[in-house]
Amino acid sequence: MPLLPSLTAAALLLGAPAAADDEHADTVAEIVEQLRTDPILVQPSMGMGDSERAHDVLTAAAAGLDLPVYVVLADTPADMAGTDSVAEQAAALFRAELGDGLYHVEFREGISYTQSWGDDELDDAYLAPVTHAIERAESNAPGEYPRASALFEAVLTLRWAAAPAEALPDDVVDEYAAQPWAILPESDHDRADAAAGRRVALIATVFGVLVAGTIITLVVARAEPVGRGVVKRRRPAYTPVPGDIADIARRRLDEARRRLAGLPAARLTSPAGSAAADAVEAGDRVLETGDPLDAVGATVLAAVAVREVERAGSPKRPPYRPCFVNPLHGEAQRTVRVDGSSIDAPVCRDCARAQGRFLAVNRRWRGWAPYAETSTVWARTGFGALVGDLAAQVLDDRSARR
Ligand SMILES: [Zn+2]
Repeated sequence: MPLLPSLTAAALLLGAPAAADDEHADTVAEIVEQLRTDPILVQPSMGMGDSERAHDVLTAAAAGLDLPVYVVLADTPADMAGTDSVAEQAAALFRAELGDGLYHVEFREGISYTQSWGDDELDDAYLAPVTHAIERAESNAPGEYPRASALFEAVLTLRWAAAPAEALPDDVVDEYAAQPWAILPESDHDRADAAAGRRVALIATVFGVLVAGTIITLVVARAEPVGRGVVKRRRPAYTPVPGDIADIARRRLDEARRRLAGLPAARLTSPAGSAAADAVEAGDRVLETGDPLDAVGATVLAAVAVREVERAGSPKRPPYRPCFVNPLHGEAQRTVRVDGSSIDAPVCRDCARAQGRFLAVNRRWRGWAPYAETSTVWARTGFGALVGDLAAQVLDDRSARR
Protein backbone atom coordinates (compact mmCIF):
# COMPACT_ATOMS: atom_id res chain seq x y z
CA MET A 1 0.00 0.00 0.00
CA PRO A 2 1.53 3.35 -0.94
CA LEU A 3 2.37 5.67 1.86
CA LEU A 4 3.99 9.05 1.87
CA PRO A 5 7.53 8.80 3.16
CA SER A 6 7.11 9.93 6.70
CA LEU A 7 9.73 12.66 6.39
CA THR A 8 7.70 14.35 3.69
CA ALA A 9 4.56 14.07 5.70
CA ALA A 10 6.32 15.35 8.79
CA ALA A 11 7.61 18.33 6.86
CA LEU A 12 4.08 19.11 5.72
CA LEU A 13 2.96 19.19 9.27
CA LEU A 14 5.79 21.20 10.71
CA GLY A 15 4.05 24.31 9.50
CA ALA A 16 0.77 23.29 11.03
CA PRO A 17 -0.40 25.60 13.77
CA ALA A 18 -0.01 24.27 17.26
CA ALA A 19 -3.25 22.84 18.52
CA ALA A 20 -5.41 25.71 19.63
CA ASP A 21 -6.32 24.18 22.90
CA ASP A 22 -9.53 26.02 23.47
CA GLU A 23 -11.68 24.72 26.26
CA HIS A 24 -14.04 22.00 25.14
CA ALA A 25 -17.50 23.37 25.81
CA ASP A 26 -19.50 20.70 27.64
CA THR A 27 -22.57 22.64 28.76
CA VAL A 28 -25.06 25.07 27.23
CA ALA A 29 -23.52 27.92 29.23
CA GLU A 30 -20.02 27.05 28.02
CA ILE A 31 -21.21 26.90 24.42
CA VAL A 32 -22.88 30.31 24.82
CA GLU A 33 -19.60 31.74 26.13
CA GLN A 34 -17.75 30.38 23.10
CA LEU A 35 -20.40 31.74 20.73
CA ARG A 36 -19.95 35.22 22.20
CA THR A 37 -16.34 35.15 21.02
CA ASP A 38 -16.91 33.24 17.79
CA PRO A 39 -20.40 32.50 16.44
CA ILE A 40 -19.23 29.37 14.59
CA LEU A 41 -18.48 26.42 16.86
CA VAL A 42 -17.36 23.09 15.41
CA GLN A 43 -16.11 20.50 17.86
CA PRO A 44 -13.65 17.87 16.58
CA SER A 45 -16.19 15.05 16.66
CA MET A 46 -18.26 16.93 14.06
CA GLY A 47 -15.48 18.45 11.97
CA MET A 48 -15.06 15.69 9.36
CA GLY A 49 -11.49 15.12 10.44
CA ASP A 50 -10.41 18.74 10.57
CA SER A 51 -12.51 21.00 12.76
CA GLU A 52 -10.44 24.09 11.96
CA ARG A 53 -11.09 23.67 8.26
CA ALA A 54 -14.78 23.05 8.99
CA HIS A 55 -14.88 26.27 11.02
CA ASP A 56 -13.32 28.23 8.17
CA VAL A 57 -15.67 26.78 5.54
CA LEU A 58 -18.68 27.77 7.64
CA THR A 59 -17.29 31.20 8.48
CA ALA A 60 -16.82 31.89 4.77
CA ALA A 61 -20.35 30.72 3.98
CA ALA A 62 -21.80 32.96 6.73
CA ALA A 63 -19.87 36.01 5.60
CA GLY A 64 -22.42 36.96 2.95
CA LEU A 65 -25.36 37.12 5.33
CA ASP A 66 -26.53 40.36 6.84
CA LEU A 67 -27.92 39.00 10.09
CA PRO A 68 -26.13 37.43 13.05
CA VAL A 69 -25.41 33.75 12.30
CA TYR A 70 -24.69 31.08 14.89
CA VAL A 71 -23.66 27.56 13.98
CA VAL A 72 -23.09 24.84 16.56
CA LEU A 73 -21.88 21.40 15.49
CA ALA A 74 -20.94 19.75 18.75
CA ASP A 75 -21.25 16.89 21.18
CA THR A 76 -24.54 16.92 23.06
CA PRO A 77 -24.13 19.30 26.03
CA ALA A 78 -23.82 17.32 29.26
CA ASP A 79 -26.68 19.28 30.83
CA MET A 80 -29.03 18.37 27.98
CA ALA A 81 -28.34 14.66 27.78
CA GLY A 82 -31.55 12.67 27.52
CA THR A 83 -33.63 15.70 26.44
CA ASP A 84 -36.01 15.36 23.51
CA SER A 85 -35.47 17.59 20.46
CA VAL A 86 -32.20 18.65 22.00
CA ALA A 87 -31.02 20.81 19.08
CA GLU A 88 -34.28 22.73 19.02
CA GLN A 89 -34.24 23.34 22.75
CA ALA A 90 -30.59 24.33 22.71
CA ALA A 91 -31.23 26.81 19.87
CA ALA A 92 -33.92 28.49 21.97
CA LEU A 93 -31.55 28.71 24.94
CA PHE A 94 -28.77 30.15 22.78
CA ARG A 95 -31.13 32.74 21.36
CA ALA A 96 -32.31 33.76 24.83
CA GLU A 97 -28.69 34.59 25.68
CA LEU A 98 -27.39 35.87 22.36
CA GLY A 99 -30.41 37.50 20.76
CA ASP A 100 -31.98 37.32 17.31
CA GLY A 101 -30.26 35.78 14.34
CA LEU A 102 -30.04 32.58 12.32
CA TYR A 103 -29.25 29.50 14.39
CA HIS A 104 -28.21 26.14 12.97
CA VAL A 105 -27.57 23.54 15.64
CA GLU A 106 -26.69 19.87 15.37
CA PHE A 107 -25.37 17.59 18.08
CA ARG A 108 -23.58 14.37 17.45
CA GLU A 109 -26.35 11.99 18.44
CA GLY A 110 -29.24 14.00 17.08
CA ILE A 111 -30.72 15.70 14.06
CA SER A 112 -30.18 19.28 13.00
CA TYR A 113 -32.36 22.26 13.83
CA THR A 114 -32.44 25.54 11.93
CA GLN A 115 -34.39 28.62 12.99
CA SER A 116 -34.09 32.32 12.49
CA TRP A 117 -35.51 35.06 14.67
CA GLY A 118 -35.89 38.73 13.75
CA ASP A 119 -35.80 38.41 9.96
CA ASP A 120 -39.19 38.59 8.28
CA GLU A 121 -38.33 36.60 5.20
CA LEU A 122 -36.12 33.98 6.82
CA ASP A 123 -38.20 33.37 9.94
CA ASP A 124 -40.99 31.72 7.95
CA ALA A 125 -38.96 30.26 5.12
CA TYR A 126 -38.95 26.55 4.38
CA LEU A 127 -35.78 24.53 4.29
CA ALA A 128 -36.92 22.57 1.24
CA PRO A 129 -34.12 23.96 -0.99
CA VAL A 130 -31.56 22.54 1.46
CA THR A 131 -33.29 19.17 1.51
CA HIS A 132 -33.38 19.09 -2.29
CA ALA A 133 -29.73 20.02 -2.52
CA ILE A 134 -28.77 17.22 -0.11
CA GLU A 135 -30.86 14.73 -2.07
CA ARG A 136 -29.16 15.85 -5.27
CA ALA A 137 -25.69 15.49 -3.77
CA GLU A 138 -26.44 12.10 -2.23
CA SER A 139 -27.93 10.75 -5.44
CA ASN A 140 -24.87 11.84 -7.42
CA ALA A 141 -22.34 10.53 -4.91
CA PRO A 142 -20.67 7.16 -5.44
CA GLY A 143 -21.56 4.19 -3.29
CA GLU A 144 -24.75 2.44 -2.39
CA TYR A 145 -26.08 4.68 0.39
CA PRO A 146 -24.08 7.90 0.41
CA ARG A 147 -25.00 10.27 3.22
CA ALA A 148 -24.36 13.99 3.61
CA SER A 149 -22.25 15.10 6.55
CA ALA A 150 -23.55 17.52 9.18
CA LEU A 151 -20.95 20.00 7.95
CA PHE A 152 -22.26 19.82 4.38
CA GLU A 153 -25.82 20.38 5.60
CA ALA A 154 -24.70 23.37 7.68
CA VAL A 155 -22.88 24.97 4.74
CA LEU A 156 -25.88 24.51 2.46
CA THR A 157 -28.14 26.01 5.12
CA LEU A 158 -25.99 29.15 5.30
CA ARG A 159 -26.00 29.46 1.51
CA TRP A 160 -29.76 28.94 1.45
CA ALA A 161 -30.29 31.74 3.97
CA ALA A 162 -29.02 34.33 1.49
CA ALA A 163 -32.05 33.68 -0.76
CA PRO A 164 -34.38 31.35 1.12
CA ALA A 165 -37.18 31.36 -1.46
CA GLU A 166 -34.93 30.08 -4.24
CA ALA A 167 -33.43 26.74 -5.09
CA LEU A 168 -29.70 26.43 -4.36
CA PRO A 169 -27.85 26.63 -7.70
CA ASP A 170 -26.66 23.21 -8.88
CA ASP A 171 -23.10 24.39 -9.46
CA VAL A 172 -22.87 25.64 -5.87
CA VAL A 173 -24.21 22.37 -4.50
CA ASP A 174 -21.94 20.29 -6.74
CA GLU A 175 -18.86 22.21 -5.81
CA TYR A 176 -19.46 21.69 -2.10
CA ALA A 177 -20.46 18.07 -2.72
CA ALA A 178 -17.08 17.44 -4.33
CA GLN A 179 -15.23 18.39 -1.13
CA PRO A 180 -13.81 15.50 0.92
CA TRP A 181 -15.91 16.53 3.92
CA ALA A 182 -19.30 16.57 2.20
CA ILE A 183 -20.25 12.91 2.03
CA LEU A 184 -19.60 10.28 4.67
CA PRO A 185 -17.50 7.47 3.21
CA GLU A 186 -19.35 4.26 2.54
CA SER A 187 -17.12 1.79 4.36
CA ASP A 188 -18.26 3.04 7.71
CA HIS A 189 -21.92 3.49 7.53
CA ASP A 190 -22.61 0.14 6.04
CA ARG A 191 -21.14 -1.21 9.27
CA ALA A 192 -23.04 1.18 11.48
CA ASP A 193 -26.43 0.23 12.80
CA ALA A 194 -29.22 1.53 10.66
CA ALA A 195 -30.85 2.93 13.77
CA ALA A 196 -27.78 4.76 14.94
CA GLY A 197 -27.43 6.34 11.55
CA ARG A 198 -24.90 8.80 10.46
CA ARG A 199 -23.88 10.18 13.81
CA VAL A 200 -22.44 6.90 14.97
CA ALA A 201 -20.73 6.45 11.66
CA LEU A 202 -19.23 9.88 11.84
CA ILE A 203 -16.34 9.36 14.19
CA ALA A 204 -15.42 6.22 12.40
CA THR A 205 -15.62 7.51 8.89
CA VAL A 206 -14.20 10.93 8.91
CA PHE A 207 -10.84 9.60 9.82
CA GLY A 208 -11.06 7.21 6.93
CA VAL A 209 -11.03 10.26 4.70
CA LEU A 210 -7.84 11.48 6.25
CA VAL A 211 -6.20 8.13 6.02
CA ALA A 212 -7.05 7.96 2.36
CA GLY A 213 -5.44 11.36 2.10
CA THR A 214 -2.35 9.71 3.66
CA ILE A 215 -1.43 12.16 6.35
CA ILE A 216 -1.29 10.61 9.76
CA THR A 217 2.09 11.77 10.76
CA LEU A 218 2.75 13.61 13.90
CA VAL A 219 5.39 15.91 15.02
CA VAL A 220 6.35 14.38 18.28
CA ALA A 221 9.04 16.00 20.33
CA ARG A 222 12.17 13.91 20.10
CA ALA A 223 13.76 12.29 23.03
CA GLU A 224 17.35 12.99 22.05
CA PRO A 225 19.40 15.26 24.32
CA VAL A 226 19.25 18.85 23.20
CA GLY A 227 22.28 20.14 21.28
CA ARG A 228 25.99 20.25 22.03
CA GLY A 229 27.20 20.01 25.55
CA VAL A 230 23.76 20.32 27.00
CA VAL A 231 23.54 17.72 29.67
CA LYS A 232 19.98 18.42 30.68
CA ARG A 233 17.95 15.30 30.06
CA ARG A 234 14.45 15.67 28.85
CA ARG A 235 11.82 13.19 29.72
CA PRO A 236 11.32 10.80 26.85
CA ALA A 237 8.45 11.86 24.64
CA TYR A 238 7.42 8.29 23.98
CA THR A 239 6.10 5.26 25.75
CA PRO A 240 7.81 2.00 24.84
CA VAL A 241 5.85 -1.16 24.08
CA PRO A 242 5.83 -3.32 27.25
CA GLY A 243 8.17 -6.30 27.12
CA ASP A 244 5.44 -8.83 27.91
CA ILE A 245 3.03 -7.56 25.26
CA ALA A 246 2.95 -10.87 23.36
CA ASP A 247 1.77 -12.75 26.46
CA ILE A 248 -0.88 -10.12 27.13
CA ALA A 249 -2.06 -10.32 23.52
CA ARG A 250 -2.22 -14.12 23.60
CA ARG A 251 -4.31 -14.12 26.79
CA ARG A 252 -6.72 -11.52 25.44
CA LEU A 253 -7.15 -13.30 22.13
CA ASP A 254 -7.85 -16.54 23.98
CA GLU A 255 -10.48 -14.75 26.03
CA ALA A 256 -12.04 -13.26 22.89
CA ARG A 257 -12.06 -16.72 21.26
CA ARG A 258 -13.79 -18.16 24.32
CA ARG A 259 -16.45 -15.42 24.28
CA LEU A 260 -16.97 -15.90 20.55
CA ALA A 261 -17.41 -19.65 20.96
CA GLY A 262 -20.12 -18.97 23.54
CA LEU A 263 -22.31 -17.08 21.05
CA PRO A 264 -25.52 -18.81 19.97
CA ALA A 265 -25.41 -19.90 16.32
CA ALA A 266 -27.77 -17.19 15.10
CA ARG A 267 -25.60 -14.46 16.58
CA LEU A 268 -22.41 -16.09 15.37
CA THR A 269 -23.50 -15.52 11.79
CA SER A 270 -24.74 -11.96 12.41
CA PRO A 271 -22.60 -9.08 11.06
CA ALA A 272 -21.20 -8.45 14.54
CA GLY A 273 -20.49 -12.15 15.02
CA SER A 274 -18.51 -12.38 11.82
CA ALA A 275 -16.74 -9.08 12.61
CA ALA A 276 -15.66 -10.69 15.89
CA ALA A 277 -14.38 -13.77 14.08
CA ASP A 278 -12.43 -11.58 11.61
CA ALA A 279 -10.87 -9.66 14.46
CA VAL A 280 -9.71 -12.86 16.19
CA GLU A 281 -8.31 -14.19 12.92
CA ALA A 282 -6.46 -10.93 12.23
CA GLY A 283 -5.14 -10.92 15.80
CA ASP A 284 -3.79 -14.47 15.43
CA ARG A 285 -2.11 -13.59 12.15
CA VAL A 286 -0.24 -10.58 13.48
CA LEU A 287 0.75 -12.23 16.73
CA GLU A 288 2.83 -14.78 14.79
CA THR A 289 5.33 -12.20 13.61
CA GLY A 290 7.00 -11.42 16.92
CA ASP A 291 6.94 -7.70 16.08
CA PRO A 292 6.07 -5.54 19.12
CA LEU A 293 3.65 -3.25 17.25
CA ASP A 294 1.94 -6.30 15.79
CA ALA A 295 1.50 -7.66 19.32
CA VAL A 296 -0.04 -4.36 20.42
CA GLY A 297 -2.32 -4.60 17.40
CA ALA A 298 -3.32 -8.11 18.48
CA THR A 299 -4.45 -6.78 21.89
CA VAL A 300 -6.57 -4.15 20.14
CA LEU A 301 -8.06 -6.74 17.79
CA ALA A 302 -8.92 -8.87 20.83
CA ALA A 303 -10.77 -5.88 22.35
CA VAL A 304 -12.52 -5.28 19.01
CA ALA A 305 -13.57 -8.95 18.96
CA VAL A 306 -14.93 -8.90 22.51
CA ARG A 307 -16.91 -5.76 21.75
CA GLU A 308 -18.34 -7.25 18.56
CA VAL A 309 -19.41 -10.32 20.55
CA GLU A 310 -21.25 -7.94 22.89
CA ARG A 311 -22.70 -6.05 19.94
CA ALA A 312 -24.10 -9.28 18.55
CA GLY A 313 -26.51 -9.14 21.51
CA SER A 314 -26.67 -5.36 22.10
CA PRO A 315 -26.27 -3.62 18.74
CA LYS A 316 -26.50 -0.19 20.37
CA ARG A 317 -23.08 -0.56 21.96
CA PRO A 318 -20.56 1.41 19.92
CA PRO A 319 -17.75 -0.43 18.11
CA TYR A 320 -14.44 -0.50 19.99
CA ARG A 321 -12.03 2.28 19.20
CA PRO A 322 -8.74 2.65 21.09
CA CYS A 323 -6.93 5.79 22.20
CA PHE A 324 -5.05 7.13 19.18
CA VAL A 325 -2.08 8.32 21.24
CA ASN A 326 -1.46 4.92 22.78
CA PRO A 327 -3.91 2.08 22.15
CA LEU A 328 -2.79 0.48 25.41
CA HIS A 329 -4.53 3.35 27.25
CA GLY A 330 -7.81 1.62 26.42
CA GLU A 331 -10.99 2.82 24.80
CA ALA A 332 -11.30 6.27 23.25
CA GLN A 333 -13.82 8.53 24.96
CA ARG A 334 -13.55 11.80 23.12
CA THR A 335 -12.31 13.27 19.87
CA VAL A 336 -9.73 16.03 20.19
CA ARG A 337 -7.17 17.83 18.09
CA VAL A 338 -3.92 15.90 18.49
CA ASP A 339 -1.10 18.12 19.77
CA GLY A 340 1.32 19.20 17.08
CA SER A 341 -0.68 17.63 14.26
CA SER A 342 -3.29 18.68 11.77
CA ILE A 343 -5.80 15.98 12.68
CA ASP A 344 -8.55 15.32 15.18
CA ALA A 345 -8.64 11.84 16.64
CA PRO A 346 -10.40 9.83 19.34
CA VAL A 347 -8.41 9.55 22.55
CA CYS A 348 -8.87 8.14 26.03
CA ARG A 349 -10.20 10.21 28.92
CA ASP A 350 -6.73 11.01 30.27
CA CYS A 351 -5.35 12.08 26.90
CA ALA A 352 -8.42 14.30 26.37
CA ARG A 353 -7.41 16.21 29.52
CA ALA A 354 -3.67 16.28 28.89
CA GLN A 355 -2.29 14.36 25.97
CA GLY A 356 -0.01 11.51 26.99
CA ARG A 357 3.05 10.23 25.18
CA PHE A 358 2.86 8.34 21.95
CA LEU A 359 3.43 4.65 21.89
CA ALA A 360 6.80 4.16 20.21
CA VAL A 361 9.10 1.42 19.00
CA ASN A 362 12.86 1.24 18.91
CA ARG A 363 13.79 0.53 15.31
CA ARG A 364 17.29 -0.76 14.89
CA TRP A 365 18.65 1.90 12.57
CA ARG A 366 16.36 4.80 13.29
CA GLY A 367 16.05 4.81 17.03
CA TRP A 368 12.77 5.52 18.74
CA ALA A 369 9.85 6.30 16.50
CA PRO A 370 6.27 7.05 17.47
CA TYR A 371 4.18 4.29 15.99
CA ALA A 372 2.28 6.82 13.88
CA GLU A 373 5.49 7.54 11.95
CA THR A 374 6.17 3.94 11.01
CA SER A 375 5.25 2.42 7.64
CA THR A 376 2.76 0.02 9.11
CA VAL A 377 -0.91 -0.74 8.94
CA TRP A 378 -0.98 0.45 12.55
CA ALA A 379 0.14 3.94 11.56
CA ARG A 380 -2.36 4.08 8.72
CA THR A 381 -5.27 3.06 10.92
CA GLY A 382 -4.22 4.47 14.31
CA PHE A 383 -4.64 0.90 15.60
CA GLY A 384 -8.29 1.26 14.59
CA ALA A 385 -8.77 4.71 16.17
CA LEU A 386 -9.07 6.21 12.71
CA VAL A 387 -10.99 3.56 10.79
CA GLY A 388 -14.07 1.41 11.22
CA ASP A 389 -12.64 -1.74 9.64
CA LEU A 390 -9.36 -2.50 11.41
CA ALA A 391 -9.55 -6.29 11.04
CA ALA A 392 -10.22 -6.07 7.29
CA GLN A 393 -7.34 -3.66 6.78
CA VAL A 394 -4.97 -5.83 8.78
CA LEU A 395 -5.96 -8.96 6.84
CA ASP A 396 -5.53 -7.08 3.53
CA ASP A 397 -2.15 -5.85 4.65
CA ARG A 398 -0.99 -9.36 5.59
CA SER A 399 -2.22 -11.00 2.41
CA ALA A 400 -0.52 -8.28 0.35
CA ARG A 401 2.79 -9.29 1.89
CA ARG A 402 2.64 -12.94 1.07
ZN1 LIG B 1 -4.67 7.98 25.78
